[in-house]
Amino acid sequence: MDAASPPVPKMAPPAQGGSAVARLKRAVADALPRAVLVRQGSPKRRRVALTFDDGPHALTDAYLDVLERFGARATFFVVGKSCGAHLPALRHAVARGHELAGHGFTHTAFPKLDAAALRDELDRTAALLPPARAGRRLVRPPTGATSLRSLALCARAGYTTVLWSRDSDDCRTTSPDDVAARLAPERVQAGDIVLLHESQTWTLAALPRVLEGLASAGLELRAGENVAHAASAALAHRALWASPSHRANMLRRDFDRLGVAVVRDGRGEVWAVETFASDLR
Ligand SMILES: [Zn+2]
Repeated sequence: MDAASPPVPKMAPPAQGGSAVARLKRAVADALPRAVLVRQGSPKRRRVALTFDDGPHALTDAYLDVLERFGARATFFVVGKSCGAHLPALRHAVARGHELAGHGFTHTAFPKLDAAALRDELDRTAALLPPARAGRRLVRPPTGATSLRSLALCARAGYTTVLWSRDSDDCRTTSPDDVAARLAPERVQAGDIVLLHESQTWTLAALPRVLEGLASAGLELRAGENVAHAASAALAHRALWASPSHRANMLRRDFDRLGVAVVRDGRGEVWAVETFASDLR
């Protein structure tokens, strides 16, 4: 966007609860280092991080097709136990430059889990996914439920908890119009981390309008770069996802063993996957 472009209207930050508990939680969250908790990206870049929870699913490829049409990249927070049934969709997501991260193995709220069970949820899911683009793995807790204890356990296990600054509310409606209205460009700000969900036909139906609106407002739709800044083109991790019959437990090993890898799509075309240095310290 050049200097002559008209300014994009901005709205106030999303309304947040005003109760004493909500204020206290917010104050605590704001005080935590970004290696522990991220709720919003930098407003300095005109970028929005789209995130999709609860996949993978039979509809994942259709989501990917829409994102591809608009050149948008997103972060998919996937449920570990669903991954085995949708490995091709996960491969397609990576091949198209999207980011994968965990959303628990069984989608159980993290504060309900003891330390060992939480660690198990985190690591069993991560074992199915490519290495984190950032220096640390990202995790989106199921339903966004956190406690200081669960945040600390995730951080100690090497995971950064990622919440959101803009909820599409797409799990509280079945109307594409509602979703599109919630994410109209005047309601989304640079640096927002946007929460959406997979497996929903109305979210899928709203997506073209949402992407078109945000793009027309000059907002770039990139993967977790608001979470973990894009670095130089340094390719720290790449992966070999060559064989469609790749077993899930092979994937991680290939990444680790090769250090460098090539991502191909189903037609054998090579896709470079950007990887990003982390601003999470
Ligand atoms: Zn979820």
